[in-house]
Amino acid sequence: MTPNELASLDQSFVWHPFTQHADWKDPLVIASAEGCELVDARGDRYLDGVSSLWVGVHGHRHPHVDTAVRAQLSKMAHSTFLGLTHEPGIRLAESLVHCTPGRLSRVFYSDSGSSAVEVALKMAFQAQQQWGHSRRTRFAALTGAYHGDTLGAVSVGGIELFHRVYRPLLFDAVRLPAPTFREDEESLVEQAVSLVQDAGEELAAIVVEPLVQGAVGMHMHSPAYLNPILQAARDVGALVILDEVATGFGRTGSLFAAEKLRAEPDLLCVGKGLTDGYLPLSATLASEAVFEAFLGKPESTFFHGHTYTANPLACAAAIASLEVFHTEDTLGRLPAKSALLANRLDDMAQLPWVHQVRQTGMMVGIEIRQADGTPFRAELRTGHRVCMAARHQGVLLRPLGDTIVMMPPLAMDEENLEYLVRALRTALMDTLRG
Ligand code: PMP
Repeated sequence: MTPNELASLDQSFVWHPFTQHADWKDPLVIASAEGCELVDARGDRYLDGVSSLWVGVHGHRHPHVDTAVRAQLSKMAHSTFLGLTHEPGIRLAESLVHCTPGRLSRVFYSDSGSSAVEVALKMAFQAQQQWGHSRRTRFAALTGAYHGDTLGAVSVGGIELFHRVYRPLLFDAVRLPAPTFREDEESLVEQAVSLVQDAGEELAAIVVEPLVQGAVGMHMHSPAYLNPILQAARDVGALVILDEVATGFGRTGSLFAAEKLRAEPDLLCVGKGLTDGYLPLSATLASEAVFEAFLGKPESTFFHGHTYTANPLACAAAIASLEVFHTEDTLGRLPAKSALLANRLDDMAQLPWVHQVRQTGMMVGIEIRQADGTPFRAELRTGHRVCMAARHQGVLLRPLGDTIVMMPPLAMDEENLEYLVRALRTALMDTLRG
């Protein structure tokens, strides 16, 4: 099929996620990928500036991960995890328990970040009930939170544009103020801590995206903001859920953002980078105390599970990806890369339309505004237009409103990182000058 035929069939039959189809024109058809590049159906190459939506870690078609998936395929593509078990699921669980911080000791698999969070919310709620804390029915979450698109995850989410319409279907969360970029943290902490204390014995758990709130537009806070809030939650008897679907697997500079925090999570959600972007797999890790709350009577069982739970191909990809972190010293190479990004972004911050550059490790948000500091009108879709201009420079980026997200695969080399920033600079100039 020609690229045009594919694009036309797409327009006729497909409904894309998070997409206003009235504006869906000239879809870019991706045909293959290699390293940190995607290749379209016409053969044009693009640098993958957002890791195929925050999933790719070691680069596309990594030989070690490819081989692991092929080897697993030659044994079995799928067998259920309900009532049976298998080696890739067992081995990955052991690896995850060893590589995550704190005292997490059990791995419950699902297949998207949303379902990993949904699982954590239900586990926290049910554990509290089974400990006899029947009044603990509420969750605390941050302003601007994004935890996925299933209804529980939307209930703790706080992005008006996405979530408002579902309000009548949702439960109410205790909403804690969060900074955009480490500003006013002291006063926000005070407010947040007192909200947690007020909710006190009604709180089942607090759920947060640690250090970087991605989908709201790459908002960032420091451990100094989060530590006292998590401590306050713990002090009132709430469980701590960390949603590391976006921040996990090296994005913030350490394997998990949680390593930089004082409080140990009771539940930790991972997804996205878990399989290096190969296959859909996520997991909710739980402490032994939470796990034990479900032991005993039949009605204490966690009645939740998905058909493709612990898909063996996906588990094989995830095991191989964790191995590559060791063989290629992926984390050891990150400080130089994030420093290079910071340095080049500093230059770009001088452009009149760059309102704020926010960076934690390899997660970057560049918020653009008019030269006088006022936001662009939303209907101008300025962030979107800048990303379209970046395509002409051979770079794929995706905006969140007027914040341009840059989240390259951890494997991207220095030369390509430099090009990424240079291409965005050119795209900004082309779109906004004159
Ligand atoms: N939590 C966080 C922090 C996320 O960034 C996302 C996805 N952007 C999700 C949950 C949901 O993950 P998924 O899209 O795989 O359901």
